[in-house]
Amino acid sequence: MFKARHRLLATAFAYAEQGIAVRQAYSVIRTASALDAFGRWRCACGDLTCQRPGTHASGDDWLTDIADVARVWSTPQSPNLLATSGAAVWFWKLPRVIGAYGMRLFEQQRPGPWPPLLKLPSGDWVVATARPVAGVTLATGVSAFQPGTPVLMPPSRLPSGRTRWLQSPAFPQTPLPSAESVHELVQQAERERFELLGYVG
Ligand SMILES: [Zn+2]
Repeated sequence: MFKARHRLLATAFAYAEQGIAVRQAYSVIRTASALDAFGRWRCACGDLTCQRPGTHASGDDWLTDIADVARVWSTPQSPNLLATSGAAVWFWKLPRVIGAYGMRLFEQQRPGPWPPLLKLPSGDWVVATARPVAGVTLATGVSAFQPGTPVLMPPSRLPSGRTRWLQSPAFPQTPLPSAESVHELVQQAERERFELLGYVG
């Protein structure tokens, strides 16, 4: 437990050092056994029916100052970690199937460094790239997390377990692929999938 908390603090530090704004989210806590024999995880926000446990902001401010980050994440119940798109990184949401397909193509072609990739409980993916330089064309269902929109970051804990980047686990201390190279592959994945399904010649 101590180690996990320490990891959240260290990760929040690393983001701030890279100029990536971070924000605290409610952690998940175990329900007291008197209330739930299974001791299930629930959101620390206090709403027993919370629909977004561990993923919604518990602080108003985006932080980039190391001292602020230390103050927030050194607490005994270390909060979960949110980040947002900006100059240093851009986050995207990929639908389940196209995301998996795109990453397989990435594995085959390796056009650049691995993009950090996180699987959401919904099955969709969050992928991180460098900030897009020019406009990028997005495949169906792909969307950008705009600056100011909070995105949950590993190693935050969800009721389903601790989140982790499937690729590039040392992010943000690793180089990011360009947004253009990643979206080119995701679009190629979409085309190949359509062909497979017989939608186009
Ligand atoms: Zn909540």
